[in-house]
Amino acid sequence: MLPLRKNIAEMARYVPGFQPEGEGWIKLNTNENPYPPSPEVVAAILAELGADGGNLRKYPDAGSREARRVAAELYAVDPSWVIMANGSDELLNNLIRAFAGEGEEVAYVHPSYSYYKTLAEIQGAKVKSFGLTTDFHVADFPEKYSGKIFFLTSPNAPLGCAFENSYIAELAARCSGILVVDEAYVDFADESALELVHIHSNIVVTRTFSKSYSLAGMRLGLAVARPEVIAALDKIRDHYHLDRLALVAATAALQDQRYLQTTVAKIRDTRDWFSAELTNNGYQVTSSHANYVFAVPSDAEGKRVYDALFAKKILVRHFSDPLLRHGLRISIGTPEEMEQTLKALIEIG
Ligand SMILES: *Cc1c(COP(=O)(O)O)cnc(C)c1O
Repeated sequence: MLPLRKNIAEMARYVPGFQPEGEGWIKLNTNENPYPPSPEVVAAILAELGADGGNLRKYPDAGSREARRVAAELYAVDPSWVIMANGSDELLNNLIRAFAGEGEEVAYVHPSYSYYKTLAEIQGAKVKSFGLTTDFHVADFPEKYSGKIFFLTSPNAPLGCAFENSYIAELAARCSGILVVDEAYVDFADESALELVHIHSNIVVTRTFSKSYSLAGMRLGLAVARPEVIAALDKIRDHYHLDRLALVAATAALQDQRYLQTTVAKIRDTRDWFSAELTNNGYQVTSSHANYVFAVPSDAEGKRVYDALFAKKILVRHFSDPLLRHGLRISIGTPEEMEQTLKALIEIG
């Protein structure tokens, strides 16, 4: 028999969103950005690659120093407060590896990003989830929570609601372990918890380049936290976790904030228009601070609408989870894509 660890043998794997083959799909199922990345990013990648790819002979900078410096400047912190990552998924994984030993507890909000659970199971940690109240607070969160890590996705995925900083600060004060604020979608929101890292030493803020920066295919993320946390994450990561192209892409993307703001503004406008239209057409839509909406048809049969959209080559996300199966998570694409999706939803009824 294969000498697998018991927790690995028993756990289920994480199933990422479906990536269809072939053309002709309107793809609104994994919260990708419908716009290309900044032209500065493309230029930086091409320059790094050069005509003959000669730079690729050499290892990348193991410390991601330039990208860290630029991120630190942007967030007005010392570079020792920043770490770059191969997707924010790498950070979530390494936070668990650094802070939660076998049998120790990791918690998250359910519903939110289910990959936290998978990562905790790989580590052999104990997993706990907290629900959400109807006014979008964490249900039954203890006065003193002694688990090693609590993941708070803000804005929440897949619902799109965001937690206020005053509330996040209160949760941080109630956690004796680390509070990870997963801000994968924060660029589409009004408020970030970044400033709280200076006040609450147990807060770690994670970000991704996959959504707002249109770089899901590049695998880039970052975290901001106090230097002791960053040093621990630096100790356990793969030393060459970011390749040369990813490093220059990260730097160029962070430096082009104007491009980010322009595409984010377009997506927010489309989101607000699409949400209002859905509401006018009998859908119940959670007010969204992200680049997707969670929408419930009047008969609460999310799977029926998912299947009907799929038949029209429009791909959205349906979750079989009892808390989510009544609705659909629809990523915000271009205005044209959302007009077609709206038309299809009206036809489907
Ligand atoms: C997309 C997403 C991530 C993963 O981001 P990557 O940088 O692509 O690994 C993490 N957390 C949440 C909530 C996400 O939606």
